[in-house]
Amino acid sequence: MRRSVLFGLAGFLLAGAALAQTPSGDSNANLDAKLDAAINPHELDGWMKLLAAEPNQVGSPHDKTNADWILQQFKTFGWNAHIETYQVLYPTPVSESVDVADLDGKPWKATLQERPIPGDSSSTAKQYALPAYLAYQGDGDVTAPLVYVNYGNVDDYKRLEQLGISVKGKIVIARYGAGWRGLKPKLAQDHGAIGTLIYSDPADDGYSQDAVYPNGPMRPPQGIQRGSVADMTIFPGDPLTPGIAAKPDAKRLTRETSPTILKIPALPISYADAQALLGAMDGVVAPPNWRGHLGITYRVTGSFPVHLAVKSEWSLKTIYDVIAQLKGSQYPDQWVIRGNHHDGWVFGASDPLSGQVALLAEAKALGEMVKSGWKPKRTIIYTSWDAEEPMLLGSTEWAEDHAAELQKKAVIYINSDGNGRGILNAGGSEDLEKFVSQSLAGLTDPETGQPVAARRRAKLRMLGPNADEHDKAMAKLAAEPNSDMPLEPLGSGSDYSAYLQHLGLATLDFGYGGEGRSSGVYHSRYDTYEHHSRFVDPGFVYDALLAKTVGRAVIRAADAELPLQQASDFADAIGQYVGEVKKLADTRREAQETQAKMLADNVYALAADPTKPHANPTPLQPVPKFDFSPLDQAAATLKKSAKAYDDALAVHGAGLSRSDRAKLQGVMQSIDETLLLDQGLPSRPWYKNAIYAPGRFTGYGAKTLPGVREAIEEERWDDATKYIGLTAATLNAYSARLDQATAILNH
Ligand SMILES: [Zn+2]
Repeated sequence: MRRSVLFGLAGFLLAGAALAQTPSGDSNANLDAKLDAAINPHELDGWMKLLAAEPNQVGSPHDKTNADWILQQFKTFGWNAHIETYQVLYPTPVSESVDVADLDGKPWKATLQERPIPGDSSSTAKQYALPAYLAYQGDGDVTAPLVYVNYGNVDDYKRLEQLGISVKGKIVIARYGAGWRGLKPKLAQDHGAIGTLIYSDPADDGYSQDAVYPNGPMRPPQGIQRGSVADMTIFPGDPLTPGIAAKPDAKRLTRETSPTILKIPALPISYADAQALLGAMDGVVAPPNWRGHLGITYRVTGSFPVHLAVKSEWSLKTIYDVIAQLKGSQYPDQWVIRGNHHDGWVFGASDPLSGQVALLAEAKALGEMVKSGWKPKRTIIYTSWDAEEPMLLGSTEWAEDHAAELQKKAVIYINSDGNGRGILNAGGSEDLEKFVSQSLAGLTDPETGQPVAARRRAKLRMLGPNADEHDKAMAKLAAEPNSDMPLEPLGSGSDYSAYLQHLGLATLDFGYGGEGRSSGVYHSRYDTYEHHSRFVDPGFVYDALLAKTVGRAVIRAADAELPLQQASDFADAIGQYVGEVKKLADTRREAQETQAKMLADNVYALAADPTKPHANPTPLQPVPKFDFSPLDQAAATLKKSAKAYDDALAVHGAGLSRSDRAKLQGVMQSIDETLLLDQGLPSRPWYKNAIYAPGRFTGYGAKTLPGVREAIEEERWDDATKYIGLTAATLNAYSARLDQATAILNH
């Protein structure tokens, strides 16, 4: 996730002054005080207890009960609210098995459900808890020996190649971590494997980290991480209706033709079961950095056959998005949108209900403020999404359903998800850095009494000199006292994706974390009310703080007289990203030249242990000299246009006439949409944003300038050249829009 500070000085005092007054005469400070007074941690505690009392996965009775209850809450809080439904393909497990006919002399079977823990919701709940499952795996009944592939990412397969080991016809076993879950079975499938098991190694979130639940926060031996393996890097949402809403009459793909559904069976298992399987393997010893913290010798190959079988029920299911509205008094057709999902994998206390109860606390507070006379200028829309967990379905279908209206009316989309004790993570479009800095001013961290922004800056600076290019740049920015709060670029993994990457809206994502310990129960049956209130956010103070944080941003976005975007931070970020992709090309070129010499000199074979299997790596392709000048020119133009706009805004913003303000807003509100590519990214047209995308081979992590960056990483040289031009054109469109805005300010 991400980080934050106080607003800059100089020119922004004028813009800040224009932001500070509302028509009823309330200053932001007054509104903040009313917001804070209305947010009560005990209430959040009670709401979570209720929402997390029973399993609430998609399609469960309690998920529907929760949607109805949330709807009722909004109405009680004074909002106009309704539920919108979609019919999505959502598989549920019918039968599943991982077994070995003869493991050390006797039959063995994996335990695919966590046993209840006394004193925990897992032992008091009455309704069905989803067993070990990976949504949108491919079903199948296969038997083959195992190959251990470490995290199962691209580099691990390169290492495997040099070890002379193939996964073809085998069942792969990978550990969780180091990249998104769904890439593990996808890469296994691409390399010819016929099944995948994923387990949680205690090195990452088990006993190596701390005592295990219920004695401590971390994953107990029987804990299982459920999750989705739909290929979100192609598109998120319903696998059968990319780009359109999953309404009853929608034209649908079939399960067989949907590109996001896996073709091979896959299941998650516990580390207790993984230990039995991995410990019985008898082949090549695993490389040192592939070894986890189980008390075994980690090996890459085993000779005994493992049987993996999964059968699912593949019908359409109904999902329930709760949509609530407070109508704007002056600009009803300008929308400030805020969302968090309500579905979990089992009880979902930390993920997602910690964020959901914060959202409810904001809704209650804003409702009370309206009752006592506040008239937000813009319309505020609060959304409680269903079906985020299986692959962002509720938020994506709603975005696709209302795409044209959203692109016209949305001012901003603000997201949150799981939350806990710790430091603020903040991600989003860099042209919102000034807006975020202003929203955070005056927010205090409950455990240190220090500004939330100061702690976030400190954390960014702690990334330190050994960080990658991007984190180094963030640390440097955070160290400048008058800089705006740096924001992390957004990849994927939560409900903002469709708003940012498909519709091109101004987007933010907030969450506290890093100190509360939720990772050990992530997507397991033990992510419960008891675990959250003991180990993740005791006293619900950080969940309440999230409500205060997002509430401030919503109030400011709803009442601002001037556009939320500020261009220079974005121009600086683009300069940084262009530098990064140029450097990437140079680094790749050197790597290819070095490898070519090593291959010519037979270095790989000479250095290998001749008694062990080994092979040469696949030769890298020579890297051409790219012409980056279109990007260089676009970045330079943007810098100039950004400075002219920000200067003009500082000088003339506060004094604009009402009609000029409306014109300015008309030009600036949708400026981020100029960054969309008509044809989208190579081989994934749903992703249209030229600046931010989830990595094709990292998933959660953002790739900036993805059309160019990934083409270089993946040796698609023609795409690299093509997307240098296309990306530069979007940046030029952004600059031209800024110039229009500057002309309105200066006229
Ligand atoms: Zn979540």
